[in-house]
Amino acid sequence: MRTLRMKGKGIIEVVEQPEPVPGPGEVVVETAFSALCGSELHGYRGEGSQQGNSGHEAVGTVVATGKGVSDLKIGTRVGASAIAGCGKCSYCARRQYTWCPDYRFYGSMHAERFLVAASACYPLPDDVPWEPGVLITGDGLGVPYHTSAKISSPCIKTVAVFGVGPVGLGNVLMQAHLGRRVIAIDIVPGRLEAATQLGATDVVNASDCDPVEQVRMLTAGSGADVCIEAAGRPETALACFDAVRTAGTVVFNGEQGAFPLSPSDQFIRRDITAVGAWFYHFSEIDQMLGLYRDGLRVTDLISHRFPFTEAATAFELFSSGQSSKVLLDYT
Ligand SMILES: [Zn+2]
Ligand SMILES: [Zn+2]
Repeated sequence: MRTLRMKGKGIIEVVEQPEPVPGPGEVVVETAFSALCGSELHGYRGEGSQQGNSGHEAVGTVVATGKGVSDLKIGTRVGASAIAGCGKCSYCARRQYTWCPDYRFYGSMHAERFLVAASACYPLPDDVPWEPGVLITGDGLGVPYHTSAKISSPCIKTVAVFGVGPVGLGNVLMQAHLGRRVIAIDIVPGRLEAATQLGATDVVNASDCDPVEQVRMLTAGSGADVCIEAAGRPETALACFDAVRTAGTVVFNGEQGAFPLSPSDQFIRRDITAVGAWFYHFSEIDQMLGLYRDGLRVTDLISHRFPFTEAATAFELFSSGQSSKVLLDYT
């Protein structure tokens, strides 16, 4: 079968590889679509992916099952979650696999077939086509949904999203769907345009102005109730603390390392709550499906689709920042 080999420094090749063989509790899925995720760009631009490729959002059909897999039949259409729990702890009992101390990550989903834990496969109902399926069972909608669950207070009226790449745009879609006023901040005009189409009421181009000042101006001086950091940069993180209202909430979505932050100035004396939100819970897929059936326009997050064999072009575009969610098509 064919798979992507990510060699680093922006080089990607489609190569032949032996068929995956399912171990106990695992299945092999024949891929219909896989989605590109911003978290893959570090490996794409840098040292590459040592074990195959970093694909971790995919849908397809079960074509082989390992020992002990009884509840997932060959031929079932599934969405695969890349994080599988141990199946024994209290978090796994609630299908909160990301909190399991022994969770396992399954990658290499940019391939004609891939291996995944049966317990992390979500059977797709007949009314859910592949495209919404890959967003609902992957982190495309998963991260924004998981984030929304942590900022559910009805007192929250205005949300500022700093950085509207794929995750930021997902937050715009999700928060606008919840009826909140959404301010989108970025430096790429095309992304701000996409944010408007997904429901942002105000957009701020941070290369033309001070985004903190703009958010304050748009909120009569008080600041946003919630600021979501979705760019993964120290300057946007600090801007979130400056642009949030007193007693508001700052959410960290974008991965990043250490940067200087003052507990006294940024948290304590303004009563700020800081929230981390990583990936999503397998249990949350049920609720995401409900939102889809209620009319959440999840496929509007997709800007481009490429045949799997044109993955190099897809990654080049995605890496340039000129796209929203990008899918690879194997059908
Ligand atoms: Zn991801
Ligand atoms: Zn567990």
